[in-house]
Amino acid sequence: MSRACKHQSLVDDKICQISYCADCGKVHLALGNMTLHLDRDQFDQLASSLRRAEMQKQQIDRAGSLAKDGVASSKQFH
Ligand SMILES: [Zn+2]
Repeated sequence: MSRACKHQSLVDDKICQISYCADCGKVHLALGNMTLHLDRDQFDQLASSLRRAEMQKQQIDRAGSLAKDGVASSKQFH
């Protein structure tokens, strides 16, 4: 713990800030009023979970927008 942490900013968005300290292998993820401190592996896992969740959500959203167009038009592709 004698080494000074050098946090590198990975993402600095309106809703989410992520910084990484390669020395500790820790990722700090700030989202709204909460902050997560993850280690490298946890972050990698979380990142792939988020990608999976994003894909699933897009499928749901797509199915939802088809349903909104009406049953008739979703059954027939022109
Ligand atoms: Zn550090």
